[in-house]
Amino acid sequence: MTEKTARAPEIITEKAVQRCIDPACGATYDLNERIYLCSRCGGTLEISQNLSEIGDATALRKRWSARAASRDPRDASGVWRYRELLPFDDAAPFVTLFEGNTPLYHGPRSARYCGLDDLRLKHQGCNPTGSFKDTGMTTAVTQAVVLGARTVVCASTGNTSASLAAYAGRAGLRAGVLLPRGQISSGKLAQSLDYGALVCEIDGNFDDCMRLIQELGEDPSIYVANSINPFRIEGQKTVAFEMMEQCAWQVPDHVVVPGGNMGNSTAIGKGFQELLDLGLIHRLPKLSAIQAEGAAPVANLFAKLKADQLTGEMPLPEVMETVENPRTLATAIKIGAPVSWKKALRAILRSGGKVIAVSEQEIAEAKAMIGRDGIGCEPGSATTVAGIKKLVAAKHIRSHDSVLAVLTGNMLKDPSYVSHYHSGTLVLDSPGGPPQRIVGSFQNAPKTVAATKAAILAALAQAGKEGNLP
Ligand SMILES: [Zn+2]
Repeated sequence: MTEKTARAPEIITEKAVQRCIDPACGATYDLNERIYLCSRCGGTLEISQNLSEIGDATALRKRWSARAASRDPRDASGVWRYRELLPFDDAAPFVTLFEGNTPLYHGPRSARYCGLDDLRLKHQGCNPTGSFKDTGMTTAVTQAVVLGARTVVCASTGNTSASLAAYAGRAGLRAGVLLPRGQISSGKLAQSLDYGALVCEIDGNFDDCMRLIQELGEDPSIYVANSINPFRIEGQKTVAFEMMEQCAWQVPDHVVVPGGNMGNSTAIGKGFQELLDLGLIHRLPKLSAIQAEGAAPVANLFAKLKADQLTGEMPLPEVMETVENPRTLATAIKIGAPVSWKKALRAILRSGGKVIAVSEQEIAEAKAMIGRDGIGCEPGSATTVAGIKKLVAAKHIRSHDSVLAVLTGNMLKDPSYVSHYHSGTLVLDSPGGPPQRIVGSFQNAPKTVAATKAAILAALAQAGKEGNLP
């Protein structure tokens, strides 16, 4: 890699810079430096904005809410609507599919299931390509256009590649996506193909794909849009702003997100911190991330942290033990070596939240329960409700707390999981051991019914007795 112009830590005079997250280094780089890691220490980068230039917080809040009636195309996007807090100038060639603007639902059945009075579900699966990744891809692909890149690439468990393919298509850029062969749901693969990306199925796991992407990033015509890309975090953080508008600026007690690559926790943590720094909110919600037991390196590390590390008085460990062969049916979060773990963990600890793991059985049951609320999410998203149930049992969350769960992907991303759950054929393969069969408590298999009115009425009555219908 060519030598980049690292600058010493200093007071920023520009609107924003890229900054190394290691406080001991803190090197800064211009926004338009095509760089993914700190060239001085190898640390990850984040965008650091000069918030003092933004001015009066109340005026900003009013301006955002006035945009609901605006005809500016940027205001139809739930990301670009908050452009004062994005690292782009007004003339930026923004690439949008009108992402964001996702619903915040009450989930009464899911709330009861968790032992809560109320639970709200922010459904990021209602984004244009069916996952939260779109909110970050709109900014990353815009940055690729700003930098004059011709090709954008990423490695992905599926949702990222679908999103990148769509935004690259929108921008007229070539997209290349690296996927671990045979480990991606067919729905996500189909999306990338349809949006015109070159799909490279790699013999290896996600972490192998990630390594290859880093090598490709050395080519000057290629822009890497992986989760390590700090411009993605900038778009993704806007979900915190949108949630607060939807909550009439009443800060919830808890925000709970799935934990895979940990980009979501990083982004949401950053979004809330900026609102706090601007004086738009006066406390942070406790931010917790939930991983699947078979892919839980951050939860494992969290469980071993000492009291003074939890309070931030002692630094976090330098390295995290990764999971060699991550195992979970929740493919969106099947990641053994999450790149954003340190940024995410820092945000979680600062807020007083936790990182825990839930079992495959718990994920499957929670997913079915969310479904009963009329809300379809992908398995990884259901870790939130499974995790909240555990955190309520552990008294980290109290029954009357205000709790908001972020659902990251749409149910139609992985319909075969759903069919298998309801038919009692959901199985997690276990190398060197017997496969684990998930027997669901809320199974709802299709019934063969005779073609008569009487038979259908009898089937409905029977389903009512079995508790399968309200
Ligand atoms: Zn550094």
